[in-house]
Amino acid sequence: MAGEPQDDCLFCKIAEGHVPATIIRETDTTVAFRDINPQAPTHVLVIPKAHYRDAAALAAADPALAADILRETKAVADEDKLESYRIVFNTGTGAGQTVFHAHAHVLGGRGMQWPPG
Ligand code: 5GP
Repeated sequence: MAGEPQDDCLFCKIAEGHVPATIIRETDTTVAFRDINPQAPTHVLVIPKAHYRDAAALAAADPALAADILRETKAVADEDKLESYRIVFNTGTGAGQTVFHAHAHVLGGRGMQWPPG
């Protein structure tokens, strides 16, 4: 069922505390933890505790939860005292998505270029 934990999902396991991660924030509906392979001084992933395969599925099924994710990206930026930062939702393999549990990347602490690669 949509939103239910998936046995084979790494980020469901992190959300449930079954796989360790450096968690910096948690709410009733979200978890924020540091990326294991950071691409910037701040690289945090914000995930819903509920399982959706990507940001599009999340937004379609539960817009309020999608808003929770966005709200938490700002809280992460405040936590790391970032004035500028980038929020990325890789959606689909062609865009670089490798973990199919919706997540926002919060990247900051260095200069950024546009367009991204
Ligand atoms: P995607 O490529 O799907 O947009 O992002 C997945 C992110 O998850 C990558 O940036 C990758 O480094 C991160 N990641 C993969 N496995 C783990 C893990 O076990 N722990 C943490 N903290 N991050 C992970």
